[in-house]
Amino acid sequence: MKKKLPYIIGIAFVAISVCVLLLLLNKSTCLINDCDNPPMSGSEYCKHHTCSLDGCNEQKSLEDAYCGNHGCLEDHCTALVIEDERTSYYCEEHRCKIGNCPERIYVGDHCLMHNCSDVYCNEATDEYYSYCPKHQSN
Ligand SMILES: [Zn+2]
Ligand SMILES: [Zn+2]
Ligand SMILES: [Zn+2]
Ligand SMILES: [Zn+2]
Ligand SMILES: [Zn+2]
Repeated sequence: MKKKLPYIIGIAFVAISVCVLLLLLNKSTCLINDCDNPPMSGSEYCKHHTCSLDGCNEQKSLEDAYCGNHGCLEDHCTALVIEDERTSYYCEEHRCKIGNCPERIYVGDHCLMHNCSDVYCNEATDEYYSYCPKHQSN
């Protein structure tokens, strides 16, 4: 009985090797490490890791809905940012509301650049002033 054990281990080892080899030759899983889902047709990534925009097969992260070309840059924001209309990498919600400013919002509805230069003030400035109306006279 004692002599049989190494023989069985040998068989198991060969069987496992063959399985691994077959998997490597026939790799039909998402390119993302640790993702075993089958890839979408036309994409190298599975449906969880492929951009949700029709016709786009770029990689996206699980938390996002779109790839870097089509989604808002804000973490966990699933908004679509259409390429043709895009002036910013951020969606309407996360983009500065002053003029056509493409920056990410900082306080309220505006970016850091469009925030009043008074350190204690969170009011927005317009495109031509660095202070809000309240602090412009100072
Ligand atoms: Zn995947
Ligand atoms: Zn995309
Ligand atoms: Zn967004
Ligand atoms: Zn701005
Ligand atoms: Zn101010």
